[in-house]
Amino acid sequence: MRRARCGNPSERSQRGAARALTSPAVPYVYAFDHKHRRPPMDMKDLLGGKGANLAEMTSVLGLPVPPGFTITTDACRAYMYGGWPDSLDEEIAKHVFRLEKKMGRKLGDPFDPLLVSVRSGAKFSMPGMMDTVLNLGLNDLSVKGIAHVTDDERFAYDSYRRFIAMYGRIVLGVDGAAFEEPFEKAKHNAGVSSDAELPASALRALCEEYKVVVRAATGKPFPQKPRDQLRGAVEAVFRSWNGARAIAYRVRERINHDLGTAVNVQAMVFGNRDDNSGTGVGFTRNAATGENKPYGDFLVNAQGEDVVAGIRNTDDLDHMKLHFPVIHQDLMDIFRRLETHYRDMCDTEFTIEQGKLYMLQTRVGKRTGAAALRMAVDMTKDKHIRLTRTEAVMRVAAEHLDQVLHPQFAAKNLKVIAKGLAASPGAAVGKVYFTADDAADAADRGEKVVLVRNETSPEDVHGMMVSEGILTARGGLVSHAAVVARGWGTPAVVGADSVKIDGKQFTANGVTVKEGDVISLDGTTGEVVLGAVTLSAAEPPAEFNIVLAWADQIRKGHLAVRANADNGPDSINARQFGAEGIGLCRTEHMFLGDDRLPVVRRMILADTPAAEEAALEELRKVQKADFIEILEAMDGLPVTVRLLDPPLHEFLPRVEELEIKKATTGLTPAEVKLLAAAESWAEFNPMLGTRGVRLGVVKPGLYAMQVRALMEAAAERVANGGKPIVEIMIPLTVTREELALARSWVEGAIAEATKGMKKKPKVSIGTMIETPRAAIRADEIAEEADFFSFGTNDLTQMTFGFSRDDVESRMMPAYLEQGLLKRNPFETIDQSGVGELVRMGAARGRHTKPDLKLGVCGEHGGDPESIGLFYDAGLDYVSCSPFRVPIARLAAAQAVIGAGHADTK
Ligand code: PEP
Ligand code: MG
Repeated sequence: MRRARCGNPSERSQRGAARALTSPAVPYVYAFDHKHRRPPMDMKDLLGGKGANLAEMTSVLGLPVPPGFTITTDACRAYMYGGWPDSLDEEIAKHVFRLEKKMGRKLGDPFDPLLVSVRSGAKFSMPGMMDTVLNLGLNDLSVKGIAHVTDDERFAYDSYRRFIAMYGRIVLGVDGAAFEEPFEKAKHNAGVSSDAELPASALRALCEEYKVVVRAATGKPFPQKPRDQLRGAVEAVFRSWNGARAIAYRVRERINHDLGTAVNVQAMVFGNRDDNSGTGVGFTRNAATGENKPYGDFLVNAQGEDVVAGIRNTDDLDHMKLHFPVIHQDLMDIFRRLETHYRDMCDTEFTIEQGKLYMLQTRVGKRTGAAALRMAVDMTKDKHIRLTRTEAVMRVAAEHLDQVLHPQFAAKNLKVIAKGLAASPGAAVGKVYFTADDAADAADRGEKVVLVRNETSPEDVHGMMVSEGILTARGGLVSHAAVVARGWGTPAVVGADSVKIDGKQFTANGVTVKEGDVISLDGTTGEVVLGAVTLSAAEPPAEFNIVLAWADQIRKGHLAVRANADNGPDSINARQFGAEGIGLCRTEHMFLGDDRLPVVRRMILADTPAAEEAALEELRKVQKADFIEILEAMDGLPVTVRLLDPPLHEFLPRVEELEIKKATTGLTPAEVKLLAAAESWAEFNPMLGTRGVRLGVVKPGLYAMQVRALMEAAAERVANGGKPIVEIMIPLTVTREELALARSWVEGAIAEATKGMKKKPKVSIGTMIETPRAAIRADEIAEEADFFSFGTNDLTQMTFGFSRDDVESRMMPAYLEQGLLKRNPFETIDQSGVGELVRMGAARGRHTKPDLKLGVCGEHGGDPESIGLFYDAGLDYVSCSPFRVPIARLAAAQAVIGAGHADTK
């Protein structure tokens, strides 16, 4: 098996051994009716979700649950780290004995045997990811007992052959196909087409054949002793925790690999006994809409799998009422009790065996975004539940808001041709174009466009701007494509490395897609589908604003939420989403429009101071107009404007492209100059090169021009009755001296621009903290700063030494899968490394200047899990893409509530 994923091997086995030796003091196994000191529903860490709720239903609510016991996650962890724990066999045997006594039947009994199910149950539900064994306890003798007590030989042998195949496959590792062949042959010989038609004699013969299959594959007979069967099944469930499916699921769902799973052993009840039996799944409210009406699927004379597998058409709960009016009423009463007890919507699995109702499972049910919002609000008014507003805010997750804010694929189970990183949520459909120019031309013709590139750069912005969606073969979650797309709310899938672009077509997993073909992509899941998928509209329900207003009340005065926005329309959008200012205006985006790029290039190419000044003057005018729009949209709220940050070569064509042109069609005189400039500005590590404040040092006129444009814009706003609040931010500072120098230019430019003004605009000067050195020397840097904004994209890149544009598509999946990293640090802040630098930078900065304003403007500012850390570090605000603002408002409130809880512990 795949072993532990934390600590070195010797540490692991020592831990496991230590736990195994001390285990008698703390049991590894608990019966469902064990009286725990705490409500078992709060003990999911130990009992797993399923076990905790089975215990709650049994020992607290007294509901009709088939008896059983739970082997704890402690046991699974001990097994992972040190092998099968010494005391476990004995504990299991004791609990089996008790179960047998309770049921009045024995495992393996030849007359009236007990059968059990063995199911996994981790802390977080991982549907279908781990293994289950049903009908355990059947053997050559007990099958006869079942035939006898049920008076149904067919049923007995059908159960036995299913058990041998299931056990063979899951526990003994026999290839499932090996059971298919005899099965098909048996049907053929009996002249039937479905398994339901196979007679008892054929099923009995099949059991014999299956045992031969097992012996051939394993070299051993099929285990007949129930005790051996049980140990094998429990071990298989432990093992399945580290199966490939389960690992992939945990990576996707961000579940910790170290949690382990519990195992539930439970007396079997049969919904397929007769027509007085049945099985179903039920929700105490509608999980899709949130409507306060129980909802579910039911089948007469069937097993649980039949309901979920969709082999037969199920009936709804109203229909069940017709067959089983009394049991239906009992079930509705149980639903009410569950809701009142859990104070939430529950989902359940239940079985009726010969007229008696059993509850097999319950848990707080999964729900859609719309349902989550509706239930949260409804339950504050429900007299049985009496949810507080604080609790209601905690009931809504970031994904719920994401769902209602963005269109999605309406259908499930689509044929996915490629999968990449889910970089910017929402779904899009459009015709594929491979260059920004082609995309822009197609959009001009009125086509809906998806831009497909290996990766994007600032030069592609005009094509990205008109695209419904963006797909890149390379790049990570903070690559250019991802950041820009998120900023605009454009769906994007990046780093889809199965996409191989070749001129005007791409292939992905054997499918070729040509220019003009339609594809659909879902930036919430990272999926790409050929053809036009129907999308479900984004329509936030009425409860959206209610819940967010409650969240705002909670976080008011604690943690503000700003947006990263670079132009007027985005700023208006951000304010509508509830942003309380702009935390990052990346001025480089203002340099990229069709009308501006040539001017920027003129500035770069200028060979005399006069030529440079003339170009800067042109840029100043256009920047001023942009700033006016932004300041107007954010009137009365702070706007942090970052002076130019990226390396200048990003504004120049690529050297290789010009070289190719030179070798083929030849270059124009202007292009000859561009090539020379591109070559002279080219750097081996541009992200560590002449960018940020370093650019200001080598081209000081640049920052002065930007500040002038900004201050003139602010002055104009003041003259027009506006209240601009300007924060000027210097990027990539690493020393106090650097910031002092940059500050002096900025102050000079402010003084010049506001000379003679009576009412001067409010302005402060600060810096980004984007390098480990800046965080470490934050005390010195704070001497020159009015505020800090943590640029956690670069801080992550530089702390890990992971290139933010390169590592995510190739290396990161391998790192996550192998547990080398628990989270993608570009998505969720690395708590103990980068997070520690943020905490240190904040504390050291405030040590120098207690009123230093602190914020964060890296992508983590919109990540719910990271927001908790920023709040704890004492930051005043987080800043994120406009579309993430609602999520950040919710997460900020949840961070505040979380801290509140900690205070009362
Ligand atoms: C950062 O580094 O976190 C940041 C916000 O700056 P950029 O992403 O523009 O480098
Ligand atoms: Mg940065």
